[in-house]
Amino acid sequence: METLTEQDRAIYEWQIDVPGFGEAGQSALRGATALVSRVGGLGGPLCFSLAAAGIGKLVIAHAGELRLDDLNRQILMTFDGVGEPRSESIEATLKRFNPNVELVVVPENISPENIEKITEGVDIIFSAAPLFEERFLMNQASVDRKIPLVDCAMYNMEGRILSIVPGETACLNCLYPEVPEQWKRRFPVIGAVSALAANMGAIEGIKLLSGLPESQAGKMLYFDSATMNFRTIQIKRNYKCKVCGHL
Ligand SMILES: [Zn+2]
Repeated sequence: METLTEQDRAIYEWQIDVPGFGEAGQSALRGATALVSRVGGLGGPLCFSLAAAGIGKLVIAHAGELRLDDLNRQILMTFDGVGEPRSESIEATLKRFNPNVELVVVPENISPENIEKITEGVDIIFSAAPLFEERFLMNQASVDRKIPLVDCAMYNMEGRILSIVPGETACLNCLYPEVPEQWKRRFPVIGAVSALAANMGAIEGIKLLSGLPESQAGKMLYFDSATMNFRTIQIKRNYKCKVCGHL
């Protein structure tokens, strides 16, 4: 458990008051390291909320240069960073917002070559990647390291968030044994919708790290913001799953 400073108590006192969270929850967040990849319309607001909550360390993996068509949703980016590496905008914004969060910013997306190094020392993974190949790599790392994964996805007006505790709940491969056929790289998105999915994922992750009730691990949180229909769907473990079946 990390000891809270007087400044920590001053910054976080409104959330320390949350029943079931308290100083113990704050201290657990202060001691935690989270990986977030990628850090666009979904991962950006997710990082914001983790930084606001006082996570100790964020490892961030995101490649590429900022484009104009990122700016409707990638809220860690700023207009003056167009054409520059996205990782620089991400780092500058988060440092200004909460200088007490330790940042490790990797200007790469998750790949088979970097997954092991990037997940070293990480306590929880937040996947906000649009590509199944990256999501599957993070799922495999979560199972190998026995650390939770919060997989966040959205398309158009819909969002799907699944938090996974290896050995206790279904993993991403239990739900999707293969990459779904109709998956497309380009997707319609309003920034408020990706931020909604992000914050639902951030809340689930904060619960898992702090012990705050009631984690929805093992259930998919689904929403359709067109109709404002929200529901939770229990996802069964597949005991023959090639990733987590042995646990
Ligand atoms: Zn599985």
